[in-house]
Amino acid sequence: MNSKVFEYQIDSRELEPYYSQYVRGRKSREPVSGEEVTTELAAETSPTIEEVPLTESDGPIEPETGLTAQTPPTEVEPETENNNDAKADTGRVREFVSVHDLGQFAFCRRAGVRAFEKDEREDEEDNGPRLTYLPNFDRDRIQAELSKQLRLLGMAMLYAAVAVAIMYVGIKQTDFLLFMAGFGILVLDLMWGGEVFWRLVILINRRHQADSPKPLKIDLLSTAPKYQRVNWWSALAAGYEPGTYQSPVRHPEWPLEGCPWRVLKHGSRRIPVIHSGAKNIAHGNGVLHDKHQCRVAAYCALLESMGNYDSPFGIVFPADSAKGIAMIVTPDLHEKVRKMLGDFLKTVELSENQLAEPKQPDDRSRCRGCSLGEPIEISKQEYKRETRNGVSVKVAQARNGKLYHCECGDRFGTIPPHAKSCRLGLVASVEEMSV
Ligand code: SF4
Repeated sequence: MNSKVFEYQIDSRELEPYYSQYVRGRKSREPVSGEEVTTELAAETSPTIEEVPLTESDGPIEPETGLTAQTPPTEVEPETENNNDAKADTGRVREFVSVHDLGQFAFCRRAGVRAFEKDEREDEEDNGPRLTYLPNFDRDRIQAELSKQLRLLGMAMLYAAVAVAIMYVGIKQTDFLLFMAGFGILVLDLMWGGEVFWRLVILINRRHQADSPKPLKIDLLSTAPKYQRVNWWSALAAGYEPGTYQSPVRHPEWPLEGCPWRVLKHGSRRIPVIHSGAKNIAHGNGVLHDKHQCRVAAYCALLESMGNYDSPFGIVFPADSAKGIAMIVTPDLHEKVRKMLGDFLKTVELSENQLAEPKQPDDRSRCRGCSLGEPIEISKQEYKRETRNGVSVKVAQARNGKLYHCECGDRFGTIPPHAKSCRLGLVASVEEMSV
């Protein structure tokens, strides 16, 4: 089994000649030659395939815009008089929407517009290296980290022995301070050693998963989206080779671009892999959240548009886990994403022309933990200074008398029901709204 992560590098620009060969619409899902399509599930972590119908987006239901995905957004004049930071970069229209933006739009229209304005193209939500980070998708790095943690555990045991010796000397010499010094070192050392031991347990478990995978098999003969729990190592055991793209892939017909975290390659098959920064990527029944469904379908469309490739499903992994969920993309979902792209461009155009701003999502519970709605305290002096400078700041007074604002409220004019805002009394809670 090949455990390397960077197996091949493809510059999508080199594949331009294939664009013209792409026939619009979904290709039939013929099995890749040499690979057996089977209804038998052999994924490591799930004994059955769950057939789950695609859920409708929980976002606001609005009339069809009639805008086709191929229609580019109208060029608009940059705002010259409004110095609002949140709107300062809305005067230009980007040529391509990123898959990340589209996923945010599937979550909430406002979030999609803000992602587009801020030019957030990365789909990787992980916030980079953390002190607690442990390798997960690379067998060699897992082994290297395991060796390092074993050395640290040895040091922790050595320090514990020194601490016990100091305590012993303290008792012998009836030196209370010396005894307490040894005791303090021992307590600190045990806390650190416990942490190291826990990391070792995690790494040993990950190495075990890497060493004993069952080859992944996915039933592709479906007419509805199917979700299957999969394991990174089972995909590699099935012959998929992981790789990355050096630059975003651009759709030849849609104004869409994106670069998945990894692409698994097997013959003519290309499987996009998303590594979410969130721990929770699906509902309790295993159905991926709307934004991940949208991203998987969009990436599959992008990869298939490169020509001669088949991308019947994609995989999403949560933060810090090699156990993810694979979703088969149906023609219906493919079409839904195409329409959503047109709707997104229309929404951005209306917002940029200040004709209409997107509403909060019908499912207001989405605002509870959304970072764009998190309240930020602002003093009266700061508020006056910002308004004097022409910056639009939407403030509300909390029960404690302090003023707060948030990025979403500043940009779109109404404060959303973020959990903290409800606690502070800035807005009514979702429950109170529905009474
Ligand atoms: S706070 Fe609510 S309305 Fe604002 S972007 Fe987030 S989910 Fe959308």
